[in-house]
Amino acid sequence: MRLVGALITLLALCLFTPANSWAQGIVRDAEIEAAVRDWSDPIFAAAGLRVEDVHTHLLNDRSMNAFVTRGQNMFLHTGIILNAKKPNELKGVIAHETGHMADGHLSRQDDAIKKAMRPMILTMGLGILAAVAGAPDAGAAIMSKAQEVGMVTFFAHSRVQEAAADQAAAKYMEATGQSGRGLLTFFERFRFQEVLSGAKRYPYFLNHPLSSERINALQNRVSTSTYFAVADSPEDLHKLEMVQAKIIGFLEPPQTTFNLYPKTNTSLPARYARAIANHQAASTKIALEQIGDLLQEEPDNPYFNELYGQVLFESGRAEKALPYHRRAVELRPQSALLRLNLSQALIATDTPENIKIAVGHLKKVLVRETGNSFAWYELSVAYERQGKMPQAKLATAEQSYAMGDYFRAQSFAQRALMDLPQGTPEWRRANDITLVIAADPNIRRQMAQRRRR
Ligand SMILES: [Zn+2]
Repeated sequence: MRLVGALITLLALCLFTPANSWAQGIVRDAEIEAAVRDWSDPIFAAAGLRVEDVHTHLLNDRSMNAFVTRGQNMFLHTGIILNAKKPNELKGVIAHETGHMADGHLSRQDDAIKKAMRPMILTMGLGILAAVAGAPDAGAAIMSKAQEVGMVTFFAHSRVQEAAADQAAAKYMEATGQSGRGLLTFFERFRFQEVLSGAKRYPYFLNHPLSSERINALQNRVSTSTYFAVADSPEDLHKLEMVQAKIIGFLEPPQTTFNLYPKTNTSLPARYARAIANHQAASTKIALEQIGDLLQEEPDNPYFNELYGQVLFESGRAEKALPYHRRAVELRPQSALLRLNLSQALIATDTPENIKIAVGHLKKVLVRETGNSFAWYELSVAYERQGKMPQAKLATAEQSYAMGDYFRAQSFAQRALMDLPQGTPEWRRANDITLVIAADPNIRRQMAQRRRR
């Protein structure tokens, strides 16, 4: 993990940006992901893409960047969300990237970057460390993946591709009845700042060179739209502020959050940010009071329920956390992450009944997110508690596979194969894992290197 951090810092330096000391990889969060998908799905659909085939990822990185890779993956840095003044600006950037995706202007690299970084689930805090603690060799696997990633963000689009993506963005915004002005104001603001600072500070514009010509062409296109004057809805504006508050609360040091959101600011986003910062600062009692106040105002907010449950869970009160996580799942049953949180709390209470319920939830999580290593880890724990050792071994094989630790995946799949009744679906799955690993030359090479060490 430390090594991955160093690699990212190196990348950042190569891009002439200030070192991104907090760059840590992929950020997962039910609320932020839902907001991003609410904003991007209509745009993907307008571009003629199958919404369910497009994957969006959030990278924990203060620098402003967004890019697409093969396999219909779109990456947004937290920095680009924090720098958006309005949802319309962020949507404009998403629409522009969608233009690259729809026209096949993709970087050479595939989705290796996604696998290269350990996901950090904001609302699971300490939980995610357990998954890695259970996999002592995961660090090595993560590192070797990271080396494959290389310089993913160095891919520069041509002027022609940039112009095409701008025009496509304008088209998608129009098709969804939205203004294309956000992309324009975003570009103008940052071009001004680029000139001011005299440095190429923003990696986004290394990949997306700005020129007056380009801005003029975009201006001409978006200003003729019937929807040019359409403004963001109050709900969308609020949603962006909540998402920004959450990113800052979780990823900045608490003192920074308290400075950005002083007590005099009594808005909901400010109170949200402070509650999260208090939780981060281990001021559990205050955090619970503050989230409790938020919950009183919005008892049906799934994310307030989730956060309250998380703070209770992380202060060792899994049993008390259950009703809040349960409520969050009730309010948003389609969210895999909310269900994962509930499963984690259920397993922690360690009663046979709750573990059984947790297994049911985890299976649902894994239908939606087959490669969620933390869910596989939790499932292995649940099976182990139930005394289902072959199933636990298979789940560990899946977890390792999802993390790219093929050596460990192979070893656990082989052990599961020995114990599972031949021909059952689980036996076949364990067999598939060993076959896939044995057949892939890249994986074979990685495993040979492992053996030599
Ligand atoms: Zn571009």
